[in-house]
Amino acid sequence: MHANRIWIPPDHPRAKSLYTREMLVDGYRRGLVTAEGLIAHGRGEAYDYLIGERTTKTAQRAIKAAAAMLLLSKRPVISVNGNTAVLCPRTVAELAKVTEAAIEVNLFYRTEERERAIKAELETHGADNVLGVGSRASATIPELQSERRRVDPEGIYRADTVFVPLEDGDRTEALVEMGKTVITIDLNPLSRTAKAAHITIVDNIVRAMPAIVEAAREIKGGRSLKKIVGGFDNKKNLRESLKIIKGGI
Ligand code: ATP
Ligand code: MG
Repeated sequence: MHANRIWIPPDHPRAKSLYTREMLVDGYRRGLVTAEGLIAHGRGEAYDYLIGERTTKTAQRAIKAAAAMLLLSKRPVISVNGNTAVLCPRTVAELAKVTEAAIEVNLFYRTEERERAIKAELETHGADNVLGVGSRASATIPELQSERRRVDPEGIYRADTVFVPLEDGDRTEALVEMGKTVITIDLNPLSRTAKAAHITIVDNIVRAMPAIVEAAREIKGGRSLKKIVGGFDNKKNLRESLKIIKGGI
């Protein structure tokens, strides 16, 4: 596997993890990812190690509920940061198409240059009409300070459901306060984001995103969407993820 400038032998036991790291380092060099984003990934990796670097049955249940929720929503938005844009630009574009969701660039460390680079990266991989860039992000999330509160009036501001993979706790809590249904991907079942969201997928984004697209394609148009969402219990699901981490399952 060639990642960035280094060669990773495909039979290396940590090949996938190393490859993902190199994608992020490459994204950092291209101005898409921040240094803080690299550190946040490191925290995620530690939890991934503990769950066995696989999509657990527990995560699969959350993935199905997330797909159903997005399909049921009237104005779903997928919020994308630097790490997400670098790790899964194609599946973000695919998920937006299958669930008829908008895509919005939403950054913790906001600069217009980085916003534009992320938009371009998403477009290269098939996304269109990417919201939230520059002056488009003119609405504000109440309760949040500075640049982090800016959102697109056509996107997150008027969304009923917001999918925020790899989000920070403050913003997740603020979105819940605003009455949004919040879906997240977060390897740490103890984070504030994981606890505040309505549907938390405890899985690595590189595995979870393609799985959500697949689930959405499978259940789209079916009659069981409400049942899938109604039968999902996030607290219970988080407890199960913790049990797996503790080695109980
Ligand atoms: P919170 O603000 O929600 O309390 P935090 O401050 O610990 O969490 P942040 O840096 O705000 O962490 O958010 C990043 C989150 O994303 C972390 O919980 C981290 O475990 C998770 N994460 C990082 N990389 C990945 C990844 N590749 N897949 C899934 N989750 C990831
Ligand atoms: Mg945080």
